[in-house]
Amino acid sequence: MVPDAEAVAALVDAGLRTVPDFPRPGVQFKDITPLLADAAAFAAVVAALGEVARRVGADAVAGVEARGFMLAAPVAERCGLAFWPVRKAGKLPGPVLRREYALEYGTAAVELRGDLVRPGQRVLVLDDVLATGGTARAACELVEEAGAQVAAVAVLLELAELGGRAQLGGRPLVALRTA
Ligand code: AMP
Repeated sequence: MVPDAEAVAALVDAGLRTVPDFPRPGVQFKDITPLLADAAAFAAVVAALGEVARRVGADAVAGVEARGFMLAAPVAERCGLAFWPVRKAGKLPGPVLRREYALEYGTAAVELRGDLVRPGQRVLVLDDVLATGGTARAACELVEEAGAQVAAVAVLLELAELGGRAQLGGRPLVALRTA
């Protein structure tokens, strides 16, 4: 059974621990490990994300390294969908597609095996937190460069004041909880 949206938002609220000044001063880090360690809450969140995948007609679930993997793999397995890891640069044997994006200081890059993708596949892009949106946008651009279509981006938590949603250029966003 899929719990209702309010119940899921409450589970995300209860399961995420805010750690001030981690990994650097000024960051309010949202730690998902308490949620993962609560079997019932984890199952409910995976069920809710699986329902999102079903609703948007996803054929595949792309998880963003590393916490996106922890959500995307069980969702894909539960729904009988392909799982694609979107990895940090240099971890995935080639051939890979790569997207660089700006961080507060410097740049980062993510990579995807483009040869896993069949043209026109609909993909749910999953991560734990949407902050400034650069990571999710880069993941979406990779999926699209590979010839697939972003059905939606889904996250446990959207940090709305950081404006990440605007970075998604109109791609649908589902946040189980918005703060
Ligand atoms: P951004 O590209 O700014 O949207 O950052 C999103 C990525 O960084 C996601 O993969 C998150 O896991 C991570 N992230 C950014 N800000 C936070 C935060 N405050 N707490 C936890 N993870 C975060």
